Amino acid sequence: MTRHWLSAALLSCVLAVSPGAVAEAQTLVLKGGSVYASPDAMPISDAVIVTSAGVIAAVGREGEVQIPPDARVIDCSGKTIVAGFWNSHVHFTEAVWKDAGSVPAAPLAEHMQAMLTRWGFTTVWDLGSDGRDTLALRRRVNSGEVPGPDIYTAGSIFPRDGHPAYLPAEMKLPTASTPEEAAQWARTFNDVGLDGVKLFTGSFKGTGKPVVNMDPAIAKAAVDVAHAAGKPVFAHPQNMAGVDAVIAAGVDIMAHSAPGEPAYSPERLARFKQQGIALVPTLSLFAKLPVAPEIAARLVETTVNQLKAFSDNGSPVLFGTDVGFTNQYDTTLEYELMRRALSERQVLASLTTNPASYFKAAKKGRVEKEFDADLVVLDGDPIADVRNLAKVAYTIRAGRVIYQRP
Ligand SMILES: [Zn+2]
Repeated sequence: MTRHWLSAALLSCVLAVSPGAVAEAQTLVLKGGSVYASPDAMPISDAVIVTSAGVIAAVGREGEVQIPPDARVIDCSGKTIVAGFWNSHVHFTEAVWKDAGSVPAAPLAEHMQAMLTRWGFTTVWDLGSDGRDTLALRRRVNSGEVPGPDIYTAGSIFPRDGHPAYLPAEMKLPTASTPEEAAQWARTFNDVGLDGVKLFTGSFKGTGKPVVNMDPAIAKAAVDVAHAAGKPVFAHPQNMAGVDAVIAAGVDIMAHSAPGEPAYSPERLARFKQQGIALVPTLSLFAKLPVAPEIAARLVETTVNQLKAFSDNGSPVLFGTDVGFTNQYDTTLEYELMRRALSERQVLASLTTNPASYFKAAKKGRVEKEFDADLVVLDGDPIADVRNLAKVAYTIRAGRVIYQRP
């Protein structure tokens, strides 16, 4: 198993968006709630969490933890606190993000809240957008001007004649007809400061038309450049040929399950595990496609079964919704659908410990001393009812409240 990209370059991009980069955080105390330090932990009741300089300074029961006199104290009685959520498939492509470096902050902040922070996201992977806008947006988020999550962003590469039916025809897309062209795009993405690559190993050309797949040798050329720079590679597989290109090229993460296809075969599941491939299922995306209800039901059944087989086989699941492409911001349905295949604790892991571990963010994913103070305050216990993951009262990134329910 090789995951070369989990090295220095990814670490440096983690550091670039570390708490130190965020506008200074005051001492914040969350008092009176129940805390899940990790998805598999027993809850700590009547807990006190102290954050200082963007980091968790102490976690324990009330009375055991000293509350600094100058702290802002948030009463969390009756609430449940978990680590900040990752959404490993988003897009900053809606019109509001255009010219994100120069437009006023207020509409950016408002949309960031509607799309991400009010659902608990403190870290996101953008899998395709105009990098100029997204990198500018990241700068404004990290300066504290626009309350928002840590943002990682990947550059996309499409196969020749693989312009997807759902992207505007006039949009100019990076395409690769040869391994050299794919490698060149991946180098360009590195040069401009993107954090990873996304390959369309299968591109949807419209209903009734054949999917255009990327030759695995072309995909591998991009993978090699990204991995040499320590960066991850995602893929949009679309069909089983696209899944097989993921396996053959050494792609790290599948950005969707494969709704129009049967189950992953035992051979494919074995390769996923052997190669450390992760899956972002995006189940609610397929559930909400504008198709007849019986077709949507079949897509859901197929993708839920794929998720279950993938997870039961011991491979890592990363939460993601494709929000920004879809305007379905509410995460409730995704949690309900994932719960058909996974336990509540596994769903929580897909939001916290799994991505932190997969992307080597060693100080994220848990509510423990010296971890980043990325926290979500929920109205109810998400292990009792997975829908409580969508009932967010506060989202805190690096010890700073980036969302507070009005
Ligand atoms: Zn997407």
